[in-house]
Amino acid sequence: MTTVSWLGDAEAKPAPGALRRVQALINTVDRESGQDRLAEAADAGPWLAANGLLGVGETLTRRDLDVVIAVREALRALVMHNAGGPPPDDAATAVLRTLADDGVVRVCVDGSSVSLTTDRISMRARLLALLLVIRDAQLDGTWGHLKTCANEACLWVFFDRSRNHGGTWCDMSTCGNKLKNRDFRARQRRSTP
Ligand SMILES: [Zn+2]
Repeated sequence: MTTVSWLGDAEAKPAPGALRRVQALINTVDRESGQDRLAEAADAGPWLAANGLLGVGETLTRRDLDVVIAVREALRALVMHNAGGPPPDDAATAVLRTLADDGVVRVCVDGSSVSLTTDRISMRARLLALLLVIRDAQLDGTWGHLKTCANEACLWVFFDRSRNHGGTWCDMSTCGNKLKNRDFRARQRRSTP
């Protein structure tokens, strides 16, 4: 039986509301172990369907999968910038710009509520909807707290709830201590004559 469970399902530092969906997509790969939920269509399909990126009964092509993975890494580039990294490069920007240029965003009025939406009939439209989630998060101030782990081998995305918003690690007990110990050993080596 195909399972839809994944490491990111039990996120230790989950983002609030819809921003969690952006975090979930970026965290479909565990860079340290090399496990990638989106590596194979048979594995990726159930996860994408469960996470609203693939319609019920829709088949997933290799091309779709390549688009999702390109978007995932472009979004990671954006989140790395939140964590003090460089701004996303032209390649990452181009991936998201293509998504935006090809898509249609509608203004939706429901009673007194006005929102932006996509038609969501294609995978690209569903991915475009994630850009709308980012837009909302940029307006309400939550976006800047979505960060990549400072361990460059990890880059897992976490939501920084620390009081001073100075959180650095996806998990202090793993990445934080690992790197601290490494730094400590490096210092020890330097101090050894
Ligand atoms: Zn980490």
